[in-house]
This record gives sequence, structure tokens and C-alpha cells, in this order.
Amino acid sequence: MTILIQGARPYGEDAVDVLVKDGVIAAIGEDLSSTAETVDATGLVLLPGLVDLHTHLREPGREDTETVLTGSRAAALGGYTAVHAMANTDPVADTAGVVEQVWRLGSDAGLVDVVPVGAVTVGLGGERLAELGAMADSAARVRVFSDDGKCVADPALMRRALEYTKALDGVVAQHAEEPRLTVGAQMHEGERSARLGLTGWPAVAEEAIIARDVLLAEHVGARLHVCHVSTAGSVELIRWAKSRGVQVTAEVTPHHLLLTDAQAEGYDATFKVNPPLRTAEDVAALRAGLADGTIDAVATDHAPHAAEDKECEWSAARPGMLGLEQALSVVVDTMVDTGLLTWREVADRMSVRPAVIGRLAGHGRPLEVGEPANLVLVDPGARSVVDPAALASKSRNSPYAGRELPARVVHVLLRGEPTVRDGEVQK
Ligand SMILES: [Zn+2]
Repeated sequence: MTILIQGARPYGEDAVDVLVKDGVIAAIGEDLSSTAETVDATGLVLLPGLVDLHTHLREPGREDTETVLTGSRAAALGGYTAVHAMANTDPVADTAGVVEQVWRLGSDAGLVDVVPVGAVTVGLGGERLAELGAMADSAARVRVFSDDGKCVADPALMRRALEYTKALDGVVAQHAEEPRLTVGAQMHEGERSARLGLTGWPAVAEEAIIARDVLLAEHVGARLHVCHVSTAGSVELIRWAKSRGVQVTAEVTPHHLLLTDAQAEGYDATFKVNPPLRTAEDVAALRAGLADGTIDAVATDHAPHAAEDKECEWSAARPGMLGLEQALSVVVDTMVDTGLLTWREVADRMSVRPAVIGRLAGHGRPLEVGEPANLVLVDPGARSVVDPAALASKSRNSPYAGRELPARVVHVLLRGEPTVRDGEVQK
């Protein structure tokens, strides 16, 4: 298939034409001509397809809330060409068989590259290491290992996980939460949790694990990735560790860049999430950390939930929010329109670095001739109000319902094939 993209602005810079042929960028220049299908991209920003390090696709086990296909649709509409599917499914993705099943479902859906994450411990039980080598050697080629939803709390087990993943050129993606400090936790521990009568989730529960883990990673000489960093103190710890040469990377979610614990005031459990929404000072520190590169990546932590698990009492609700379809808009709102990130830096934080962390060849590549045509075209000037009923996800727990956000994903190509055309997903 050959497509001529006319008048696109790579990284938001000067407009050019881009010829896509046989899955790669075949030519870039002014006034290219071709008999091929043309896409009028006047005014649209061209970026490498986005890569998510942290998506819950819920299949196998909770197909009532999301499937690999519906999650792939949501991802494509969000501008993604690859997503990492978290391991906390039922059964847990802790064997070569389960990760291969998820990988195959992803390739059957054919809208984004679905990259399975392998569990660190058997059944996410935190007691015995899973078959990390078998998952790495499987057809799914797992390189990211995580018990996300649960912390690998035992320091001896975490040390061994780091040793194994180092040998596999993999990485442990840690959900940093000291469980003894968050028993019964419902929201950020602070003045507000006390007033609302909800058990607090203290910042130190995250920071204590990050401090321990960067020291373990340094000791082992292994890579460590920190999931959904949420506190100012965590940003400081990661900045310190990087200055020492520790091989640590970190991600922040769109919701932690935009929302604060003030959202808990109405007891609307849509805003219950783990780690919880924090204070305005934390949000400012997360934005600054993403801007200066201390935080490497934006990752959605897209977490679909059934209505009965969200439209209930706060304490009974499950934590988690949707993220794939609005992630780029939230990043534009919080980071681009505020002058904190350029479009080139958005590509770095949402495509280039996530692909490097996940060891994904073919994604997060420069917009150059010969590179794979995994591309997204964005209208930066569009604004729209989020309507959960209109989302491609099977669930409706969007924290952005009714909120006006900037930027719209218009076209997406996966290896040169359109997965989204004029804002419409192709499968
Ligand atoms: Zn998590």
C-alpha cells in the first residue's frame, strides 16, 4: 500500500510531504507527487506512533470490561501503535502460554502491537518468581515484567527479579507501594483524607519502595522502571538516582498530570485510583520532572472497570480510570499548551523513550526515510468535550467526562496501513 501524506508538520515544525510505501517512510520532501492515495494533512502535527508502557486490557478474565480488540481500538484512536498489556489478568500472565495467548489476540486484532507484560511472581503472589526466561523466549518476546496492581514488596525477591531480568535484557516495572503502609487506603493521605473520613495512602509508601529499589538496582547493576510516579518526593528520589548513574526510568500517568485529590470531595469513585490523585504541589513536581526528563515517559495505566465496580460507595469501588483515548489530549493540555514540552519532546516522552524501555524495535523511531511507518497525525487546534458514551473502550470510567480538552487524533498508520482515518478506527 502506498499513501502520500501532504503538508504534515513533523514534530510541529515546517510542513512537508511524506510518502509511505511498503510499510516504511519512502520519501520526505516538498511537493512530492504520486498516483497513490493522498491524505490532506494541512496543519496536522506528525509524530511517531505513540507507545504505552502500561495498559490493562482485561483479557483473559474480564472481557465484560475490555477485550484485546476493544482496548486496541481505544489505543489506535488515542494515537498509539503499540501498547504493553499488564499481567494482572485471570489467569495471570505468568507463563509463556498466557503471554502468547495475549500476543496472538493482539495480532489478530491488528490495530496496535500488543506487547504482553509478564508477571514477576507466580499469580502475582509475591512469593515465587514466575517463569521469566520462558516468557522472554516465547513468541511474545516479553521484556517488561511487572506485578502491577501489587508491589514486589519482598526485597530479596526483588533483588532476584532484578538479577534475572538483567540477564534477559528486560526490566522490572515496579508498582511502588509498601503494602504495610497502605492497609485500607482510599485516597491521598493529607488534610483532605482526614476531613473526608477516608483512610489515607501516604506519599512515603511510594517513596520508601522507590528509594529501596533504586539502591537494589544500583547494587545489581540492573535496569528498574517505576510505574505511575505520583509524588514530588518520588521525583526527587529518581532525580537523585539518575545523578548517581542508576539505570532507573519512570513514568507518569495523564491523570496525575492533570487532577488532584480535590476530586475526592464529591465521593465520585471515578476518581479513585492507585496510586491516588495527589496535591497540586505534587502535580507541579510531576510536570517539572516530565519536562526536564527525570520522568521518562507518559503511560496511561488505562484501567477499565464495570459500572457496578465504580458506581458504588467510594470504599467499595475498584481503583483505576480509562486513559488511552484522552492521553495525548491531556498531555497537550498540561504540557504543550503550558509551554513545558515541545512536540518533539512529546514524541520523546510518549513514543521514543517508552519504546526504548520496552525494547521495541520498529516503534519510537525518528521520522526519517527508511524507518517503519508507525505514524500519528494530530490536529492540535481541535477542541472537544469528552463523552464517555462515545469511547471505543468497553468501559465508561473516564475521569475526563464533560471536560473540554485540546487536540484530536486524525490519522494513524501501523506499518503503513491506516488503523485510524479521519478519526474513525478501521476495524
Ligand atoms: Zn499500578
